[in-house]
Amino acid sequence: MQCIICREYFLVDNNFSSIFSFPKICPQCLKKYDVKPQVEVIPIQGGEIMYYYLYDDLQVNRYVKLKLLRYFNRLYQLIPNNKTNILIIDDTVFEQLKKEIHYLPRSNKIVFMSLFRYNFEDFKNFI
Ligand SMILES: [Zn+2]
Repeated sequence: MQCIICREYFLVDNNFSSIFSFPKICPQCLKKYDVKPQVEVIPIQGGEIMYYYLYDDLQVNRYVKLKLLRYFNRLYQLIPNNKTNILIIDDTVFEQLKKEIHYLPRSNKIVFMSLFRYNFEDFKNFI
């Protein structure tokens, strides 16, 4: 099999249970990109923004980043039902937020989500 992340070939133990479902990711990548959902609280006036992300400090190229998006759905399972406004953060949105953070509604129902952690420390003075 060829790993969809690192594109290396790897061997698969064929047995009866895996005869129709082959692994797409090699054992090395499974270990390296093991998902560890994390949450931070960003205080705002009159409340807080919950910020969920999967990887803290991981430098990968664009191809690997796209492949790791397959794990993004694990974040949705963590979001409480009363949080209704989800803002998915990527490089473009993060840069835009730096300019327009003042327009963000003051609501406890906002949730930020991203694949990789962005540093919102500098934002705390403005929201
Ligand atoms: Zn791999």
